[in-house]
Amino acid sequence: MEPFPLEDEMAVTCTHVAEHVKKVKPHTKGCEECLKSGDTWLHLRMCLECGHVGCCDSSQNRHARAHFHATQHPLIQSAEKGENWKWCYIDEVYL
Ligand SMILES: [Zn+2]
Ligand SMILES: [Zn+2]
Ligand SMILES: [Zn+2]
Repeated sequence: MEPFPLEDEMAVTCTHVAEHVKKVKPHTKGCEECLKSGDTWLHLRMCLECGHVGCCDSSQNRHARAHFHATQHPLIQSAEKGENWKWCYIDEVYL
């Protein structure tokens, strides 16, 4: 028995969910760093630990990944409409 119910697809490989997923809301409507520097991005990812919004690995600046390296917040969620997958940078798995 699980101590609390997890969605099926979140079951196995990643052990970071319990500790690193908080109740957060996106800080910004776009990538925080790109908005400041006036850059553009392709897709947005939101940090599930602090609500930081950063651009994806297909974007020129890859701020979502940079945020992970800076903060060790391993879990992000797609901030694109119609997408609800999550990703763990440490385990490199979709959740
Ligand atoms: Zn993980
Ligand atoms: Zn960015
Ligand atoms: Zn974060």
